Amino acid sequence: MIDIGDVTQTSAPCDLHTRHIPESRINMRHHVWPLADGGPDIEDNIIAVCPTGHYNIHDLLEQYRMNMGRAHYAITRRFSLAERHYAKLGYDRLTRGYM
Ligand SMILES: [Zn+2]
Ligand SMILES: [Zn+2]
Repeated sequence: MIDIGDVTQTSAPCDLHTRHIPESRINMRHHVWPLADGGPDIEDNIIAVCPTGHYNIHDLLEQYRMNMGRAHYAITRRFSLAERHYAKLGYDRLTRGYM
């Protein structure tokens, strides 16, 4: 394992998907409750995500933000169950203001 700042080269799966096609060799540290929104920089608030998953989770979190925690199934169905889980958890944490 080689750490390059927030990016880790790894053969381990990310926390969002059990498999990747093509294979992902990079994981990033994502703050479920984003640092930019006052989220804490602690392990309980951090998950390992592949670049695609990272993009998706921020995309869906933005959807929840624009719609007060709701997202139509036509949108959420494009995301994996884990992406939905962590995007919603992030929204819940940042709106309530604690873990
Ligand atoms: Zn992130
Ligand atoms: Zn992934």
